[in-house]
Amino acid sequence: MEKKTQTADRKPQTEGPKKKALVLFSGGLDSRIAAKMIEEQGFEIHLAFVKLPFGGGCCNNLPCIFNFAQTQGFHLHIIDATKADNFLEYVQIVKKPRHGRGTAMNPCKDCKIYIFKKGWEIKEKLGCDIMVTGEVSGQRPMSQKRNTLLFDDEMSGLTGKIVRPLSAKVLPETDYEKEGVVDREKFLSVEGRRREVQMRMADEYKIKYPGPGGGCLLCEEVYSKKLKILYDYVGDRLPNYLEILFLKRGRMFKKDGLLFVGRNEEENIFIKEVAKDLKWNIVFREDIPGPTIVFDQETDTEFAKGLWKAYSGKDLDERAKFSEWCI
Ligand code: SF4
Repeated sequence: MEKKTQTADRKPQTEGPKKKALVLFSGGLDSRIAAKMIEEQGFEIHLAFVKLPFGGGCCNNLPCIFNFAQTQGFHLHIIDATKADNFLEYVQIVKKPRHGRGTAMNPCKDCKIYIFKKGWEIKEKLGCDIMVTGEVSGQRPMSQKRNTLLFDDEMSGLTGKIVRPLSAKVLPETDYEKEGVVDREKFLSVEGRRREVQMRMADEYKIKYPGPGGGCLLCEEVYSKKLKILYDYVGDRLPNYLEILFLKRGRMFKKDGLLFVGRNEEENIFIKEVAKDLKWNIVFREDIPGPTIVFDQETDTEFAKGLWKAYSGKDLDERAKFSEWCI
């Protein structure tokens, strides 16, 4: 049934001036297919990738995203949410989501609304005729249930404005389908987590794609615990991006202040560089193998030195003395 729909009349429309489509691009299989389906309807494709501070989407590999855009001749726009006002807006959402969280710190509904709003801004700026996503109804437990998709549209003020070619036929008609800007008959009715349809289409389109994503640190329990402690610690202000970077690397301790202990050479180098930018203190020894420890101004230097001593040796009892502060 699906296959028939997919293969029917798949000829690019080439007549007339090109309409423009903004495709919210996660980098994964579904948004690649959605972009190709819309291209077939004669649109010039503009991909918008939102780079989130905690990862997300299917592909956080920018070269892979550049490569896809380049090989397909699509325009690519990166919305960087790790910097400036975009970042502050996002970390504020994570601090206090209006629509709840998933199993960990992940504020999926608010996150989607944020992404839609950022995408819509670019769509308007570029003068695109439509905004498209590769979302599939029922694919993800929290963020892509049918009702959730429609809720996201409503909360973003975009009811009837988000075109979802993969699941269009199981969703209400969008304004653009009603007006004939896009041809609903060429869209699909994919639902659920299985990806056979999309994989078959990728073969037909001869496109490569990464494995299914994940990649959002906010869904991870251990990471979320560290992040929550950081939010509580910084109080009224918001954490900055450098502080957040520590959470991905290094063992975290919290006593009066915050400390991070590198667990290998790569982490040692990384946390030292970040600490320099933050003007945090650093404990390490060039002459003796051991970890690098970075800590903020609230931390007692003697405590940090003791921690360094414990973690530069192999005596687990010594390390255990610090376990009550280890996150
Ligand atoms: S998992 Fe949720 S919070 Fe993370 S990027 Fe996806 S929608 Fe956003």
